[in-house]
Amino acid sequence: MIDEKLESVISEVIARNPGQTEFHQSVREVLESLGPVVAKHPEFLDHKVIERICEPERQILFRVPWQDDSGEFHINRGMRVEFNSALGPFKGGLRFHPSVNLGIVKFLGFEQIFKNALTGMPIGGGKGGANFDPKGRSDSEIMRFCQSFMTELYRHLGEYTDVPAGDIGVGGREIGYLFGQYKRITNRYESGVLTGKGIEWGGALVRTEATGYGAVLFAQEMLRARGEDLDGRTCVVSGSGNVAIYAIEKTHQLGGKVVACSDSSGVVHDPDGIDLGLLKQIKEVERGRISTYVERKPSATYTDRGCIWDIPCDVAFPSATQNELTGRDAKALVANGCIAVSEGANMPSTPEAVDVFHEAGVAFGPGKAANAGGVATSALEMQQNASRDSWSFSYTEDRLAEIMRSIHATCHATAEEYGAPGNYVMGANIAGFLKVATAMDALGLV
Ligand code: NDP
Repeated sequence: MIDEKLESVISEVIARNPGQTEFHQSVREVLESLGPVVAKHPEFLDHKVIERICEPERQILFRVPWQDDSGEFHINRGMRVEFNSALGPFKGGLRFHPSVNLGIVKFLGFEQIFKNALTGMPIGGGKGGANFDPKGRSDSEIMRFCQSFMTELYRHLGEYTDVPAGDIGVGGREIGYLFGQYKRITNRYESGVLTGKGIEWGGALVRTEATGYGAVLFAQEMLRARGEDLDGRTCVVSGSGNVAIYAIEKTHQLGGKVVACSDSSGVVHDPDGIDLGLLKQIKEVERGRISTYVERKPSATYTDRGCIWDIPCDVAFPSATQNELTGRDAKALVANGCIAVSEGANMPSTPEAVDVFHEAGVAFGPGKAANAGGVATSALEMQQNASRDSWSFSYTEDRLAEIMRSIHATCHATAEEYGAPGNYVMGANIAGFLKVATAMDALGLV
């Protein structure tokens, strides 16, 4: 049962942000964990820290005009939600996808606050993007869009103010075009203003791999806490983008076998184990569709519009998008013997799915903990930029592994302390909230 005062905060959030269903969902999920916290710390209610944390510090909406290769004009909507800067500059990715709207960006920004706090790094929370569809667009079109986007956004950014990165539809190529335009407009080589940069121009080794690697390391920690191991486990990873590819890579390195992955069109099932070299060639080099995998790998089958969660596995890594794993899917996973789920994506499991996992005793790592390795490594990139240094792959990967172990330990211990042993949702929400709320309270009514 949720605390009455917290329920009234949720009602206010819903009334003030009509139609923003994903944002409502993420607020409810966090506030439902906070009953035992406000019982111990009534000042967070008295000082309206919870109301304040649910209201972004600043929301920026802007027009992004651009021209395609045939000369036609297009207008998209760009946005940046600067949610919370109690711990450091706003930090969070940019998403380019036709589904992007303010409610989705706010849910992502809200999650980001607690995730960033859990990393232990000095970074606040934010998120942005545009309802732009990069699929099928040429390099020149992508460049013109990124330049137009940054021509407005640059005035709101800065290494001590707001530091974006990639997300769905924004990878190394887009970060390059965005950084180039920022540099040109401001006449500053301010490396720390964006993360996910290329290695040759201020980027950090391991940043590309970090989110996927981190989600697998988190799963390994959850399994070890139960006396189990990833070695020898059959796994499925939804999506086939940045997070998914490197979740597959790390799973294979740790002795697991990923037998399926997907994109928004369908599912590839390869019982021999996904051929990562082939997958990288299709997605990173050719920017093609996953359906072409089966043309080059006879052991695999492709199911158009298939459901990846029907494929039996021990460990699942939802790594595509929000609400991609429903209550029905969770039941199918449990029925097929799944013992752990680690979220590479943000909020991929619906609340019903999370309930199913908890009831079945599945080790469930929520995205704000399990996929925090990406933003943590972004903070390591900022550190290297600030000190004009660059670290080796192995040193950076060791730091990432240490951070993931620490996030796991914090969530595990906090869940136990607050009477919910093994519940990483409670552990992550409470630990992340306490850090941000304590800082907000110390900074006064701002
Ligand atoms: P990419 O754009 O690299 O890949 C996204 C993948 O998800 C693609 O395979 C895409 O398929 C699939 N996908 C996207 N939308 C849908 C949809 N509506 N239904 C089914 N599949 C879909 O993005 P990332 O890998 O970077 O991001 C994936 C998730 O991880 C997101 O939730 C993101 O917020 C989260 N995340 C990413 C971080 C990062 O460092 N990149 C950090 C932390 C979280 P298709 O090509 O067909 O669209």
